[in-house]
Amino acid sequence: MLEFDAARCRTNVRKAETGDLLDRITVFREDLEPGAVPIIERELRDRGIDALAISQYEQKRPRIKASAGYVLKCSLCHRPAINQAWGWHKMWGFLPVFPRLMRWCEEHQPRSDAN
Ligand SMILES: [Zn+2]
Repeated sequence: MLEFDAARCRTNVRKAETGDLLDRITVFREDLEPGAVPIIERELRDRGIDALAISQYEQKRPRIKASAGYVLKCSLCHRPAINQAWGWHKMWGFLPVFPRLMRWCEEHQPRSDAN
């Protein structure tokens, strides 16, 4: 088990996008190292986001959960998924190989007119 590296965490947090930090501190809070929580909260406070704004974000952020209770991630990025469906896993990005349960966040959700 690696020891928690607070300095490294701070560097990482400082470079992260605000939306990413908000997701980590709310939707994916259970995945965080306990030591990372105050670092992220402090960084958000420095960016002008207080506890109230964080809890509002948590309430409004759409996401879907696995039956085990944890929040599912988008198959293409680290944001919370809002939708899932069977799709084809594509080799090299275009050659369909095998069906796979795909999940998408708001940004990666396939447009209905894409077919
Ligand atoms: Zn995504």
